[in-house]
Amino acid sequence: MTNQFPQDWNKAVVFVAHPDDVEWGMAPAVSHWTRGGKTIEYVLATSGEAGIEGMSPEECGPLREQEQQRAAAHVGVEVVDFLGFPDSRLRNDETLRDAVAKEIDARRPDVVITCYTGPNYTEEIPNQSDHIEFGNAVHDAVASAEHNPRWVFENGPGSTHCVDVEAEDVQRAVASLAEHKVYLEVLNPDKPAFEQATELVEDLATTDDGLLRVGFILK
Ligand SMILES: [Zn+2]
Repeated sequence: MTNQFPQDWNKAVVFVAHPDDVEWGMAPAVSHWTRGGKTIEYVLATSGEAGIEGMSPEECGPLREQEQQRAAAHVGVEVVDFLGFPDSRLRNDETLRDAVAKEIDARRPDVVITCYTGPNYTEEIPNQSDHIEFGNAVHDAVASAEHNPRWVFENGPGSTHCVDVEAEDVQRAVASLAEHKVYLEVLNPDKPAFEQATELVEDLATTDDGLLRVGFILK
């Protein structure tokens, strides 16, 4: 049903829309890869400046960038860059596609991973417009870039490929998501960020058969 994610590569660039997008899902795989000596870089379209209710974008953007940098460090990622596009208002237009294509040509990854572009995560949880617009912009940018990555994946439901991870990777991913402390504790003030992160990451990384696994969709 699901194939093993390719292993014969050195560098992946993860293109996501917002701070915390990597941590909601694929961070255990990132930990697994960096422990195995692979290089992973994060490129974020926005700084997530519209993401915390009651906080001005001027205050929120820098705070979320710092949370993202610390989150990345837990799973062995040193390079985190922000493209500065407007949070909640991403459009798959020429400016966005060109910016992504430039990053692909400069970074020359073997693997590109981006946001899920399907309409819904589950029956109850619809996808967000920013994820769909940015994921599609990344696919278009791959097609127009001079450098050709060998594989392009999305991270979301309906996976075609999987990465089997270890408990250590899940723990590092929990620490990674928990760095989005202010964000998580505004979202749910009744539960400390680390507790929220533990539940979310363990739930996402555990299959119905009890395996620790992260799924990706080959595009
Ligand atoms: Zn997001």
